[in-house]
Amino acid sequence: MLTPREVLPGAYQITLPLPFELSSVNVYLIPLETGFLLVDCGLGTAESLASLETQLAQLGVSWSQIREIFLTHTHPDHVGQAPRLLALTGAKISMHSDEKEQLARIARGPANQPAWLDEALRRAGVPRALVEGIEAAFARIKPNFPDLEPDRVWRGGEILETSLGELELIPTPGHSPGHLCLYSKQHRTLFCGDHMLKEITPNIGWLDGRDALGEFLASLERVAELEVDTLLPGHGEPFHGSQAWIAATKTHHQNRCEVILGALEAGPLTAHELVGAVWPQPLAPFHHRFAVFEVLAHLEHLRKCGRVVELPQPSHSLWSL
Ligand SMILES: [Zn+2]
Ligand SMILES: [Zn+2]
Repeated sequence: MLTPREVLPGAYQITLPLPFELSSVNVYLIPLETGFLLVDCGLGTAESLASLETQLAQLGVSWSQIREIFLTHTHPDHVGQAPRLLALTGAKISMHSDEKEQLARIARGPANQPAWLDEALRRAGVPRALVEGIEAAFARIKPNFPDLEPDRVWRGGEILETSLGELELIPTPGHSPGHLCLYSKQHRTLFCGDHMLKEITPNIGWLDGRDALGEFLASLERVAELEVDTLLPGHGEPFHGSQAWIAATKTHHQNRCEVILGALEAGPLTAHELVGAVWPQPLAPFHHRFAVFEVLAHLEHLRKCGRVVELPQPSHSLWSL
């Protein structure tokens, strides 16, 4: 059974189940002068809600004591349960303005064939049958992109007053367009969402018109300037060694760029073909989408750096040195 873990005085990591390969997500309960702030919500499943209710009861915390909900970002495993929790707690919810926009775009889009996803996959050269598999997987997760109107939107740099002292909102785009970390200078601790995960390289989501990988690398530099002893991630155990993690992750993405450049030496390829070069084993549709977007994020970054060019074709795009 999952039990809350005290991570700072009066602040708890609460681990909730996920029905995926990545089998859990962490939310955090932070004491306020009156009541609590909840960082992230978990996926919108009955199992997740029951687990949160049980763990709050173990802490003697009732739903109505949760006064604020803060989202690090709006991926389904972090925002899916939000509507239910808002109804149970009456709390106010906040997120970055870019997350608000992305969430609204997905939540208000068609159920199974979001135009941007369809267009991105077509341009990436993903075969039609696989696009259908990806869109079916997307339709299953879609209810976990709720149409939320936040009470407050952030730009980054703001301060939250809590019983732990001040928490600074550190903008860390890359994994998602408006990802935010919460930094306690006093406790040398970073609530890092999915920006940094122990033993997992966060997925970099390609974003139309943005250099997501470049933004992610800049976000790592921003965190490297902070004095951090403890990282409290959105998945997995708390960990240490922020600087070493940042160095290793930068190397990982440099290596991935080299693999892509190496594959293009033989001639132009689509992003879909490049997925095969980076991940030689076939991927399930759900994972293939993340793989295509990860490759696209690297290609976009390499394009910005002047290392590759996109060659638009009538039905797809080729990438070339
Ligand atoms: Zn995420
Ligand atoms: Zn996550």
